[in-house]
Amino acid sequence: MLTVFGSTALDTIRTPTKILKNVLGGAATFAGISASYFVKTGLIAVVGKDFPKEHHNTLSKHLDLRGLSIQDGKTFRYDGKFDETLSVRETLKTELNVLANFKPTVPDEYKKSQFVYLANNDPEQNASLIKEFDKVKFSMCDTIEFWISTKRDAVIKMIKSVDAVVINDEEAKLLTKEHNLIKCAKKMMSWGAKYVIIKKGEHGSLMFFDDVIFPSAGFSLEDVVDPTGAGDSFAGAMIGYLASKNSTSLSSIKKGVVYGNVLGSFAVEKYGLDGLLQVKKSDILKRIKQYERMIRF
Ligand code: AMP
Repeated sequence: MLTVFGSTALDTIRTPTKILKNVLGGAATFAGISASYFVKTGLIAVVGKDFPKEHHNTLSKHLDLRGLSIQDGKTFRYDGKFDETLSVRETLKTELNVLANFKPTVPDEYKKSQFVYLANNDPEQNASLIKEFDKVKFSMCDTIEFWISTKRDAVIKMIKSVDAVVINDEEAKLLTKEHNLIKCAKKMMSWGAKYVIIKKGEHGSLMFFDDVIFPSAGFSLEDVVDPTGAGDSFAGAMIGYLASKNSTSLSSIKKGVVYGNVLGSFAVEKYGLDGLLQVKKSDILKRIKQYERMIRF
């Protein structure tokens, strides 16, 4: 089993072609649903009493929700705007609401999860939660500018507590205060991460382990409408694939990265969660085959 912990949100997303208001989002939502195509996935998250029933129903179709806590107050809200190239996102508002003082606990049924993904979330909560699992084989975390700017030391401590970090290129530079991505990865490895995966948006990713560098291309697409959640979908697919194989070999990690690129590509083709919700397992396999043909030479 895989457990995913992180934000479950009501998002306002402003793209050049459409504005989505208070739609279901959050890093753990995208990651968990993406992972659910590979393995049974449990969610640990908090929402407020304002969280719509229909969103709850959507989550319940994909995820084990015994770890979802509903508390008095408002759900975490995120408001972000993309520029016309869809490659630059500006955060307009982050309202933590019930997430601010959340004291997460791991339900007994999840304690034996061997794979744990700490999606974007308060790094202090993430680092304390990981200690509650009984026998973690592979753990991975992500972070975002908001936490690097407000709790950098806690982000570094969180990195020490996991096996792998998945992070986007701009955030890796901001966090490590380096300009070169190899230097960024080395610094995160010196803090304790065994694997570092740096996401480069449409350009794919770089995976680092010891002295291995594994570059992988993004799945090339002509029509992209909303990149929200692509990184989370990438990470969810990667760790979901590893959990489904119960493997942490280097070759599985490389394959996991490829599944990450492919699920990320489904996420950006439609608005909000729609890309992930509408995909079928057969679509994923078809795209993996296409991807293999694209990169073979
Ligand atoms: P991504 O596009 O992969 O970076 O992820 C976007 C998702 O992250 C959105 O659905 C947001 O709800 C969520 N998010 C944005 N800011 C934060 C934050 N500071 N902490 C946790 N989750 C966040």
